[in-house]
Amino acid sequence: MPAITQSKSDRKKVGSLLTAHGVDDFTWIDPRRIITAQWVRMKCMYGCSSYGRKACCPPNTPTVAECERFLKEYRDAVLFRIVVQFKKAEDRVAWNRRTNARLSQLEREVFVSGYERVFLLSPAGCVLCAKCSGQRETCVLPASARPTPEAMAIDVYSTVRRFGYPIEVRRQVTDEQNRYGFLMIQ
Ligand code: SF4
Repeated sequence: MPAITQSKSDRKKVGSLLTAHGVDDFTWIDPRRIITAQWVRMKCMYGCSSYGRKACCPPNTPTVAECERFLKEYRDAVLFRIVVQFKKAEDRVAWNRRTNARLSQLEREVFVSGYERVFLLSPAGCVLCAKCSGQRETCVLPASARPTPEAMAIDVYSTVRRFGYPIEVRRQVTDEQNRYGFLMIQ
């Protein structure tokens, strides 16, 4: 029986797909250094209005233990940053929709370029539909809808600081934001 080997990602090829989709602030990371925590799930459960109402949010995402297992299966990933500032809270929906549509296309192109395991953890909550079905089983666009890193129990604050990226708690919705996503490659 042949030995199971994992080839290295073609970072140049994937990098050019990232920049072609407007993702030009990114770094390659060892996914085993991504930090997960139970407190992240607690914040979803107690304090987030999307809990139980969005098909890509807890409790419609795997358990924290399953999220950890999923992340551990990867050996190469991209951490990327998008800086954004909104004039008013309502502007977030249109931005989320545009960003998710663009990143979903990026994930698809990485997939067809030969990375069957590629999976996007989006920096924008899924708002692809005007009204979310609220359950995974009835998600209208399951091929495009992706969870955020937080919905997968990733401690984004600790993780991005570990890789030298800035992040601070926002006080106003109009504050400049550093949004972070992950593209799990292989
Ligand atoms: S695609 Fe639609 S139904 Fe599915 S998670 Fe996104 S908003 Fe909800």
